[in-house]
Amino acid sequence: MISTPAAIVLYVFTSLALAFWNMKKGHGFWLGLFYCLVLTPAIGLLTIALAQQVIIVNTGSGRKRSCPHCFGLTAETQSFCELCGKHVGRQTAKQFLQMAELFVGLVITVLLVKMFI
Ligand SMILES: [Zn+2]
Repeated sequence: MISTPAAIVLYVFTSLALAFWNMKKGHGFWLGLFYCLVLTPAIGLLTIALAQQVIIVNTGSGRKRSCPHCFGLTAETQSFCELCGKHVGRQTAKQFLQMAELFVGLVITVLLVKMFI
């Protein structure tokens, strides 16, 4: 049995690890950390696992990131690729919230199924 302080430490460390992973994928560290802490690391893990790998490149004219569709470089602040026009929007809070919604929906479904079987 895990004591409460140990569980909190585990929770925070898992969130930190996930936030680092989120940063490595080219998304924000703090955004990842915040939603892992608020919405549980399970939801953070799923969201970050599904997030696109984004490569940030420092060029002479500022930070650019690679497009996951055509691998061209687009200014970091752009939401659409300058070359192929596809959406390259950065990870948003909405993605975390959608995953949380999905997760809650799944849990409710499982509970309902258990009640009737
Ligand atoms: Zn592109």
